[in-house]
Parts: sequence; C-alpha cells; structure tokens
Amino acid sequence: MPKSKLERGNVRVSTVSDEQYRSREASHSEHRTRYEAKAYSASSATSPLAGTTIPRRELTDQDVQIEILFCGICHSDLHYARDEWHDVMPTVYPCVPGHEIVGRVRNVGSAVTRFKAGDVVGVGCLVDSDGTCPNCEAGLEQFCPKQVLTYGSPDKHGTAPVTYGGYSDSIVVDQRFILRVPSNLDPAAAAPLLCAGITTYSPLRHWGVTKGKKVGIVGLGGLGHMGVKFARAFGAHVVVFTTSPSKKEDALRLGAHEVVLSRNLDEMKKHAGSFDFILDAVAAEHDINLYINLLARDGNITMVGAPEKPLPVAVFGLIFGRRSFSGSPIGGIPETQEMLDFCGEHNITADVEVIPIQKVNEAYERMVKSDVKYRFSIDMASLKSE
Ligand code: NAP
Ligand code: ZN
Repeated sequence: MPKSKLERGNVRVSTVSDEQYRSREASHSEHRTRYEAKAYSASSATSPLAGTTIPRRELTDQDVQIEILFCGICHSDLHYARDEWHDVMPTVYPCVPGHEIVGRVRNVGSAVTRFKAGDVVGVGCLVDSDGTCPNCEAGLEQFCPKQVLTYGSPDKHGTAPVTYGGYSDSIVVDQRFILRVPSNLDPAAAAPLLCAGITTYSPLRHWGVTKGKKVGIVGLGGLGHMGVKFARAFGAHVVVFTTSPSKKEDALRLGAHEVVLSRNLDEMKKHAGSFDFILDAVAAEHDINLYINLLARDGNITMVGAPEKPLPVAVFGLIFGRRSFSGSPIGGIPETQEMLDFCGEHNITADVEVIPIQKVNEAYERMVKSDVKYRFSIDMASLKSE
C-alpha cells in the first residue's frame, strides 16, 4: 500500500499511511468520534479558498472545544495555501489555514481543569508536541521535533490526514496548547497576537531589546507593526524600514521614533553601523546585506520573515563587525502566555481590519501588495451564512 509521504530534497514530511488513515476513519465513524465543522479551505495551490465542511474530533479527556470568534490572516497562511514553501514544507490539500485563533470555550473534556465553558481563549501555531524532549521541558515547544502545527501537520488523532486550522467555526485542542486571553483585550484585535505577536515578542526578548538599544524593524506588515509596538514598549529607540511611503505616518503613530524609506539608499546609509538589533519581517525577496551593514559591532539581524527563495548573504558584512544573522520561529507556550499577559497589562493589540470570511481571497491579494493595515482579522460569525 503506498504511503502518503511527501519527499523533497533532504526534507521529508510524513503523514499517516493511507491504510492507517482508512482504518482509523472506519473506527472513528463506528464510534461517532467526529463531528462536522464549517470551514474555508484551498483545494490546490491555484484555487481560491472556498466554503466547505471538515471533520473535527469529539473531545478526549484532555481536550477543549472552542467556538472560534476571530482568526487573523498571517502571510504564512498565504505562503502555505499557495504551496510557496514547497521545498521545505509541501502543502497537503485540502488545506484550512489559520493559526491566530481567539474563541470561546464551548465544552471541556473530563480531565480539563484550567478552562471552563465561556472562557475566552487563544490558540496559536502549535496544537501538540511530545512534551518530554529537552525543548518541551524548557517550554520551547516550537523546537520539538514532534511538534504538531495547527494546520498541515499529520493528524495523530486520525480525524483527517492533516490538522486543519482556524478558518473554521470551531476547533478541538489539547488543553496544554490553549492560552488565556486577558479580558481587557478586544478579541478581534487580540487574535493576531497568537502568531504575529509571539513571533516578534520572542526574538526581541531573546536578543535583549531594552531601554537604550537602537532597534530596526523591517517591513510594516502584520508582524512588523507588532514588532514596533513591542520594541517601543520595551524602551528601545525604534526605527522602521518600509518600502511604502504611505505608511510613514502610521509607523510613527504605532510607536516608531524614526522611519526610513528603504529604497532610498542615502537615507539608509545615514544609519550605517548603528543598530544593536534588527528584526526583518519581510515576506518577499530583498537585499539583506543593506541591513547587515547597518548593524553596530556585535549587532544581530534576525529573520522572522520567511521568503520563498534563499537570500544571498555577503559574508564580509558579517565578518567586519562580528555581526550575526539568525532566524526565529514563533514561540513556546509559556512565552506566548507571558506575551499575552504583557499585552493585557500594557493594552497592546494588533491594528486590525475585521472582515467576513467571504472576503478572504480579496484580503490575500491585498496582502501580496503590502496593503494591510495592519492585520486582517476574520469575524467567524460570517461563516454562519455559508
Ligand atoms: P505581511 O503582513 O504581508 O507584511 C510583510 C511586509 O513586508 C509588507 O507589509 C511590506 O512592508 C514588506 N514587504 C513586502 N514585500 C516586500 C519586498 N518585495 N521588499 C521589501 N519589503 C517588502 O506579512 P506578515 O504576516 O507580517 O508575515 C511576514 C513574513 O513573516 C512572512 O514571510 C511570513 O510567512 C513570516 N512569518 C514567519 C513566522 C516565524 O515563525 N518566523 C511567523 C509568522 C510569519 P512595507 O510596506 O513596510 O515595506
Ligand atoms: Zn503566522
């Protein structure tokens, strides 16, 4: 029996075998352990997202069933739906994106102690991990080799071939991967914190961004605008690099002290050798060397943006100045909770444009054109009319 295994270069993503899936499916329907949820999915790299129904598992003892209120649209959703990360993480269709979920608890399993019906909770990019490896023990589940992503990972419960994300009216998640959302935060604007928030908070903390540091944020999109808010809240001097002259005023309003139009090389050069840290949140190809040259001695530039193609690095830029170039993925569950609590205390949320799910394809087109102010948040009540 052929296995549903996708191989590319030296990267292998294995899903459950067809046989395993069919037998699990048979046993699940026998025991009626699945229910149908409404969702939006893409059926191929070139098809628009459209309404569908998907199976979700009934609660196990450790599970929480959430009625999804809002789900942010991350550029990763678009990369994934269009199979732009094919060489690293090939997309399994149909795919249901969405990993910036805020919802209300509808039901809890018998062993769930931390949540009850009615609580407002969040789910980010992870829904499971082995819980025992050194990364999990350190609360860094984002590095667990057995991590289960909210969408597109093999579904170990056998409910479907892969996990399905938050463009849906409900989801069932193990209580260990559920976050508390502070009650003072608007749920539509809090949803993007679950990915854009933690993905920027974590490297800013890791690289010691505090008062007195000069910090650059490259790309004023969903991630970038959260990076600006956090870097400012941590006390840094914040400089935004944007390709969009129309975003200049917004950058200042969001907390930047200075704004540089990155296509103006003279403006860029004025900052040569001066940054302690730069966070690059650009989703497309761009010249990273321009930014490396802006770092001070021992400065670091971290990529959170995940462009489809490799970025060439001129190593002399790193050698002179002992600078470093690194990357950072999302964040672990304890740090995600810390970030949400920080946002609660400092009243930080994303600037959102709330849309009905029927506008998701239009939102994707606008995202490609850098025309997002500054995160789309889908109002899931709009799925009721599907
Ligand atoms: P987004 O909202 O579309 O923002 C990206 C921004 O990048 C744009 O608004 C634009 O800002 C800038 N940009 C776009 N094209 C550019 C180009 N050709 N040259 C220079 N700048 C350009 O995307 P997002 O949701 O913030 O995500 C950004 C990237 O991070 C994506 O690749 C996404 O997959 C990735 N991501 C990574 C992680 C992680 O764990 N590391 C987590 C989430 C997302 P300006 O108009 O200001 O120039
Ligand atoms: Zn994301």
